[in-house]
Amino acid sequence: EKTQVASFLDHTVEPYTEIAASQGKKLVLAPVPEFVVTLDQNLIHQLMNILIDNAMKYSPQGSTITVSAKPLGRKWQLVVADQGIGIKSADRQRIFDRFYRVDSSRSRKTGGNGLGLSIANWIVSLHHGTIVAKENQPHGTQFVTTLPVTPNSSLGSRREKKG
Ligand code: ATP
Repeated sequence: EKTQVASFLDHTVEPYTEIAASQGKKLVLAPVPEFVVTLDQNLIHQLMNILIDNAMKYSPQGSTITVSAKPLGRKWQLVVADQGIGIKSADRQRIFDRFYRVDSSRSRKTGGNGLGLSIANWIVSLHHGTIVAKENQPHGTQFVTTLPVTPNSSLGSRREKKG
């Protein structure tokens, strides 16, 4: 559906700010310019859920997680950046595979089965977009999602198979 990105992100991010605060972390939504895109709100909500959840799981107390969005011509970009443990460059593609977790996460006692990012990747490809993990400065990870402003297929008909 047609979506005002600024208010959609407001609503999506808001509930997590309290959860982050309860863990001693700060979740910030950077000022988002006014622009309208077409997306499946449930799915992009789910995407945000996965990325913010991971950002909180893999970053220490006292750190800040920043969500930002901006239009880029016929595309737009959604970024979730953390100041956490980071992801080695060798792992930065494989984390989107089903069940893949980096060594340090496999041994963690707390949650995770390695499905989150494969679902994120699926949601993004349904929107004909891309998602990549990049190094954040001075440390941590940035998940950069690039989506078309108007995906030119019906998002409702989830027929496509990829991979
Ligand atoms: P879940 O399925 O519950 O999300 P998960 O976090 O292990 O479990 P994914 O979300 O698919 O699974 O993430 C895959 C792996 O990528 C994680 O196990 C972790 O090693 C790494 N990872 C994901 N997000 C981050 C992040 N923000 N910082 C550092 N490592 C991350």
